[in-house]
Amino acid sequence: MTERLYYSDSYLTEFDATIIRRAEHEGRPAVVLDRTAFYPTSGGQPFDTGQLGSARVIDVIESDAGEIVHVLDREIEAAGVRGRIDWARRFEHMQQHTGQHVLSAAFDRTAGARTESFHMGTSSSTIDLNRVLAAPDIEGAEAEANRVIWSDVPVGVRYVSAEEAAALPLRKESARTGTLRLIEVPEFDISACGGTHVARTGAIGAVVIASSERFRGGTRVEFLCGVRATRAYRVLRDTVAASVRLVSVLPDELPAGIERLQAEMKEIKRTARDLQTRLATFEASSLADRAEPMGTLHAVIAAIEGWDQAGLKALAGEIVTRSNYVAALFSVPAPSAVVVVRSADVTVDCAAVLKKLTERFGGKGGGRPDLAQGGGLQATGDQLVIAAREFVRQVM
Ligand SMILES: [Zn+2]
Repeated sequence: MTERLYYSDSYLTEFDATIIRRAEHEGRPAVVLDRTAFYPTSGGQPFDTGQLGSARVIDVIESDAGEIVHVLDREIEAAGVRGRIDWARRFEHMQQHTGQHVLSAAFDRTAGARTESFHMGTSSSTIDLNRVLAAPDIEGAEAEANRVIWSDVPVGVRYVSAEEAAALPLRKESARTGTLRLIEVPEFDISACGGTHVARTGAIGAVVIASSERFRGGTRVEFLCGVRATRAYRVLRDTVAASVRLVSVLPDELPAGIERLQAEMKEIKRTARDLQTRLATFEASSLADRAEPMGTLHAVIAAIEGWDQAGLKALAGEIVTRSNYVAALFSVPAPSAVVVVRSADVTVDCAAVLKKLTERFGGKGGGRPDLAQGGGLQATGDQLVIAAREFVRQVM
């Protein structure tokens, strides 16, 4: 059995050990040591990384048999090795893990909500609580957890038998038998746990709730402790600072500022649509005057800038109020919108023209023989106009 050095000293970063078994894990070399400070993924806490001799430790796995397997990036020859864990990563995990104990106990005590599970992700952690909680419940537990953190009490570790544990107020009953490892925050929480923890609650720094949502009949709470809270604060600070510069408001006016911009945008779009509709009458007669003869038809085939799909439709519709016209209009630059439409007394199949256009230039669309429209065509205005001329002739 491997001696788990992190059980008795979670601040140990360097150690000497002997390789007692060599193995392979998914094509990588792996070793089992007589003693290790490397924490394997378990109990919601991710594994440690670091150095073992000349090799990088890229994963640490606890096997079903209770063996701790160090997965390496290369073989190591010697039997005796020096190990060194990446402290920044480990300490970050210790802050989150100890913070979870305190936060879970705070939810239990202030809101009567039990923690069903815990997961530590790469940037934040979550606990799933067995009750639906309102915002004041969550704020209350957060405040209580920080009170305990700032009271800076020692985090105790002790070993007891299952019988002894039964007489103690454990927050959650342990399914394990035999000796239990208890983590104790005095007068606040006792939990059975095999993870790594900070020595005093003050080292957690602070706990902040990042978000909460209803989950499986209870509440999933996302939280950040210590270094992760400061990291997240920096991201929020930069995001808010950049946003207030763009919107020209104070930080707390940001939501209202964005709402105002959205309302203005909606108004501008409506105005643009109205103007296009009014402009369509004039633009249509100018285009109709320059129509090219195609057999007995007048064809208006053009690529025009500054018109959206709705505008093109209004424009084309205006052109074909005249007798004996067919119009194929495109927006430019690509991706282009397209509208193909005909006068009531013309028989050109507009849907067939559109189909040929999307076959050649991509995009999609559809319609009826008298009116078809689409978008997403990838071509220049000239290419579209030349092709449309050819296709209209083909279906006349
Ligand atoms: Zn723990």
